[in-house]
Order: sequence, then C-alpha cells, then structure tokens
Amino acid sequence: MLDERDIVEMLQLRGSDQEQLFAAARDKRHEVFGDEVVVRGVTEIANHCRVNCQFCPMRRENTRHNEGFRLTVDDLVDAGRTVHANDINVVFFQGGEIPQTTRVVGEALPKIHDLYHGDVEILLNLGNKSHDEYAYLRDQGATSYIIKHETSDPGLNERMRFETLESRLDCMRDLLDLGYWVGTGAIVGLPGQSLASIARDILLARDIGAHMCSMSPFVPAPDTPLAGQPPGDVEVTLNALAASRLVEPNWLIPSVSALAKNQKGGQYRGFAAGANVMTVNFTPTEQRDRYLIYGKDRFVVRRDYATGLIASTGLRPRKSVFAGRTPARRKEFIP
Ligand code: SF4
Repeated sequence: MLDERDIVEMLQLRGSDQEQLFAAARDKRHEVFGDEVVVRGVTEIANHCRVNCQFCPMRRENTRHNEGFRLTVDDLVDAGRTVHANDINVVFFQGGEIPQTTRVVGEALPKIHDLYHGDVEILLNLGNKSHDEYAYLRDQGATSYIIKHETSDPGLNERMRFETLESRLDCMRDLLDLGYWVGTGAIVGLPGQSLASIARDILLARDIGAHMCSMSPFVPAPDTPLAGQPPGDVEVTLNALAASRLVEPNWLIPSVSALAKNQKGGQYRGFAAGANVMTVNFTPTEQRDRYLIYGKDRFVVRRDYATGLIASTGLRPRKSVFAGRTPARRKEFIP
C-alpha cells in the first residue's frame, strides 16, 4: 500500500520518470474503467455563499459587490432537460453554501428523475448541510455529493476557509452514512502547503472511503486576499492526480478546468495522468458570467470542446457509473 513518503516522491517526478508515473496511472484506469470517461453536465445554481474562503471570489465578503443569482425549481428542471438532450445522465448541480438550495434542489429532483425515467445520477456540490438536509435530498433522488476537504492540514484549512476541517469531515461521514456516492478533493499549491501535506490529502480521501477525488491547482483569483499569490504548480497537480489513481484505482477522478486555466493543454494532460471524468458546463450564459469561482475569465468547458478533447485523448465518453446503484456502507471511517 502506498504511503506518504511514496507519494511525496511521486509528486517530485519530472521528465521520463513523470511519464512512467502517468503510464502506470493510465494502466490502472484501463484495468478498472477501460478507455472510458464519465461525462457530467453541471449547472451552477447560486453564487452567494455564507463561507469566506480566501481563494474564492464568491466568498461572503464579496457578496455586496457580486451580482447575485439563484435559479428556481423550474430553472433546474430546464437545466436537467438540457443535459438530457445532450445525452448525458450525470446531472450535476453546484452552488455556494447557502441553506436556500436545499428546498429548490429537493423540489426539482423528482421531476428530473421523471425526465430520465430513473436512469440518472444526481450529483450535488452545495457545501456543508445538516444530516437532515442531506437525508431529505437523498430521499428526493440525489445520488452523489462532492464535498472537498481542500486541504487535510487542519491549521491551513482554518486559515484558508475560517471553518474547521472537522466540520467538513462530519459532513462526509453523514453523506457516506446516508448512502451517497461521495467525492472529495484538494487544492494543490495553497500558500504554506507542503508536498507532505498534499500526500496526506490523497491518503485522507482514501481513509474516508471516498468514491471520487479531485486534484485542482490553486488559481489566484482576482478580488480575493490570495490574488497576488503564485498559481499552483500544474506538474505537482498532475503527479498528485496520477498518484491518486495508483492509491485508489476505483476512484472517479476529474480532469478539472483549472488545469486548463493554469496551463494551456492542462486538461488534456489530466487524462494522460489517469483522470476519467469530464464536466461540461450547462449554466445559462447570463448566470455563467456571474459564477466567479476563478474570477470572470475562468475557463468554461462547453460540449463541443469536451467531445473534441476526449476524442483527442483516445478515450470514449460514457454515462454514469453510479446511476441506479447504491454504495456499500463504510462504517470504518477513521480520521
Ligand atoms: S469555495 Fe465554495 S464554500 Fe468557499 S467561498 Fe467559494 S463557494 Fe463558498
């Protein structure tokens, strides 16, 4: 089993050693998933947030300056219809952490299930909520949930997010307990983060029993306290992605748009390093420009781009691996 020291070594590989790491990660992906990439359709549903993450332009302190939006139940059902029309059955809703999203999403989900006659994965990324809210959303038809730990270092986490890591892990425990497929992930290149800390990010995700894990390079976004910091190193991020594939071959691992933001061709290289998920953005244009996750000039993945990119990697798009399935319960959660 790979340990922290093994992963730290992997994070430092470059040149032909790095290529060998990527080849090993691709082999593992091939063993488990063949040559297929899960395609998700994301709609961003609200750009307010009660949290004040130092790296995010949607942070609470920016609420007054940002032009807010919140989609309605009908908007969400329309979004589900658009994703369905694009032959994608992972309907992904994400938004800032506010309590109002629970009801809106909950009311839309049964209607979206009807559109798909049940053959759909509903994936949510709406932040920390109570056990009861997660249970309600699960009852309404949610299948899976992404809740990133961002960094496994409790001190760094609190400095970056003004929240405790433990509160995030509590949410993961609730989600796993309720039978969600759970995704987590880390940001690579946060100020003050060490390679050992990144290695522990991967090991924490493994020990939690997550089913999905992302590695995103830090993007120094405008209008945030970290705007002047250097961007996260794409090479370290790609190595972390490949190491994640070797640590847990069964994981869904996205090649995130932030890779393309920090390096031309970065998202292609994510697949070369072992990723197997691509997310296409279906947020209506008017709202998309107000969802400032990396600032106004973020890289937005459209359907044609995704199709072309996947084809260029020699992989094939596929539908959900989770629709209609329930994960085995993981009671042995330790961290
Ligand atoms: S990263 Fe997420 S939780 Fe943090 S401020 Fe931005 S939207 Fe809110």
